Amino acid sequence: MLVVMKSQATPEQIQAVCEHIEQLGFRAHPLPGAQRTAIGITGNQGEVDRGNIEELSGVAEVIAVSKPYKLASRDLKEEDTIIRFEGTDAQIGGRNLAIVGGPCAIESREQAFTIAEQVAAAGAQFFRGGAYKPRTSPYAFQGLGVEGLKIMAEIRDQFGLRIITEAIDNETLELVAEWADVIQIGARNMQNFSLLKHAGRMRKPVLLKRGMSATLDEFLMAAEYIMSEGNYEVILCERGVRTFADHTRNTLDLSIVPAVQRLSHLPILVDPSHGTGKRNKVLPMARAAVAVGADGVLVEVHHQPEKALSDGPQSIYPEQFVTMMNEIEQIAPVVHRTLPRGIHVESTTGVHDGSK
Ligand code: PEP
Ligand code: MN
Repeated sequence: MLVVMKSQATPEQIQAVCEHIEQLGFRAHPLPGAQRTAIGITGNQGEVDRGNIEELSGVAEVIAVSKPYKLASRDLKEEDTIIRFEGTDAQIGGRNLAIVGGPCAIESREQAFTIAEQVAAAGAQFFRGGAYKPRTSPYAFQGLGVEGLKIMAEIRDQFGLRIITEAIDNETLELVAEWADVIQIGARNMQNFSLLKHAGRMRKPVLLKRGMSATLDEFLMAAEYIMSEGNYEVILCERGVRTFADHTRNTLDLSIVPAVQRLSHLPILVDPSHGTGKRNKVLPMARAAVAVGADGVLVEVHHQPEKALSDGPQSIYPEQFVTMMNEIEQIAPVVHRTLPRGIHVESTTGVHDGSK
């Protein structure tokens, strides 16, 4: 159920409706839009008796949402969600494209700083890197843990880049939420409902990767799990699904971008690194991702991919990252987007502008 408030409804009226919903034993999720606020109702098994709610002051109408996902749906919020990063001009969603670059895993301070410097110089605003790695083999490199998180926090201080890193379980979630700007939930965890709910209680944006065999509905329902706990800052990420095609590691399903955008207000990024698994296919698919209308791309970058401890074959060289930025910059205006170059951070040390 969804309560649509009148455009002139006051904050007090919105508050009163939320309290009424909570008194009925449900959860109220007020989501302000450009024209009006809508309040999602969750926690109800069947229909909520709309009679009383419709009579409350400031209420325009009460609508039943037919889709299984409510808070992620455009029925609740028509405008695209834009996620902003306090004290910076960086955003995910909206007109500006968000570019995330960095290694699969943080391997050492030197490795991470070398890559971060080049990612920042190319004008990206976000740096990625795993401190905790979900590996297929228990014998493979599992990440540097907290040390990796600290290295990334230093990178944020030095280059201004906002940090995205993965939480692999409830234990690492708390640490990641403390150190990072965006909590990544990986493909293998897309239906780890306990982790999703915990991430919903954090007050940091969550980058949710599509599970390798997840349908569109399952993907949006995973986002709904996070939102149902009160965290509305969810960024979706298409990273390829498993198919019979074996010329790539996964099949990058770009058509999910317009499909998501039709149904949901949440931003969606594309990861052509995991989506193809092959360095020579990352640039073409990154261009295609922007052309199809994605809100940005996430790519793995390594200065010595042959020595990388994970995902070397799909990591592009820093020079290729520069080429990618230049090409995306040219495609952006065709799809009514802009590629910001560099991140501006309000701080005592002045403005970071990676492009200079
Ligand atoms: C990653 O981003 O390095 C990663 C493990 O991604 P995914 O969960 O999409 O496999
Ligand atoms: Mn990886």
